[in-house]
Amino acid sequence: MHLENNLSKKILAWYDNNKRVLPWRVGKKSPKKLYYRLLSEFMLQQTQVKTALPYFENFLLHFPDLESLSRSNEKKILKLWEGLGYYRRARNLLATVKIIVKKYNSKLPKKIIDIKKLPGIGDYTANALLAFIHNQPTIAIDGNVKRVFSRIVNKNENKIDFNKLIETNKKSLFKTKRHSDFVEALMEFGALVCKPKQPECFICNIKTTCGYFKSDKKFKQVKKIQPKEKNYNVFCYIHKKTNKIALTKKHDLGFLNKFYLPLIEEATTKNKIKNWNFHSNFKNSISNKKLNINLYYKFSLKLPLQSEWFSLKGNNEFIPSFTKKIFKQILNIN
Ligand code: SF4
Repeated sequence: MHLENNLSKKILAWYDNNKRVLPWRVGKKSPKKLYYRLLSEFMLQQTQVKTALPYFENFLLHFPDLESLSRSNEKKILKLWEGLGYYRRARNLLATVKIIVKKYNSKLPKKIIDIKKLPGIGDYTANALLAFIHNQPTIAIDGNVKRVFSRIVNKNENKIDFNKLIETNKKSLFKTKRHSDFVEALMEFGALVCKPKQPECFICNIKTTCGYFKSDKKFKQVKKIQPKEKNYNVFCYIHKKTNKIALTKKHDLGFLNKFYLPLIEEATTKNKIKNWNFHSNFKNSISNKKLNINLYYKFSLKLPLQSEWFSLKGNNEFIPSFTKKIFKQILNIN
């Protein structure tokens, strides 16, 4: 599969005229480049730009550079991350920044193998950082980039070996010296022009060589398999007099690990719900999981094992949004 010889030139030309102004796109020589890119890349995993933006700005108010973040701790970081979800990213960001500051003297390693050893950094992020920080010739293959290439060659994504496609076309793709900008430009082009649902083909400056645009037989995108909904029972012990709820970090759900939740169990016929009051049913999504929740409560003076009392009205501790949603529901039980 051969791509057009001038693809990088055309996409860069589009990018130069149309790119969004984003706070992490600082100048190539800016000393803040590595920190801003790390922070934004971690925040943008699974999160849209508009959602990440206020978190990014707020983070900088508390931690203006790599060094200040490296001196921080998980509790503070999680509090700032509250509401952004996928909290593992916050822990990994902190761990990665600490390693970069201590082991690499606040510089990004030059070899991809070393970058990939940093916590929370996979193939995509490693390549993106390699291009952004060291201007290395590489492509970071995210969902946007896959979609753009797949449309250009008019083939379904799952029928394309993207690494092979890049290797075959490396001479033309890396003809430019602006490797950092090209990685950014490809993603931006996918986000703003070659969009998932309605690509803007008529304003697209590569349409004359785009297989999807030119073909009468356009490939059909395979629909993503939606995660199945799972049923959970949530049991809230409430200390009525003090308006507190018992929360525990001891659960084995495979998500929200090590975070404070009420007692929660996957719903089975073995759940003992006999002495519990049913409160409500609601749906919730956590990471890529869909949950159908039955919420139960009981008043209790006794703290259950491995739990702590938390005020329903506000805490200094980091509390995940899922738990806060439950707080709101049961706040006014009498
Ligand atoms: S012509 Fe349409 S499908 Fe092809 S790259 Fe441009 S926007 Fe995407």
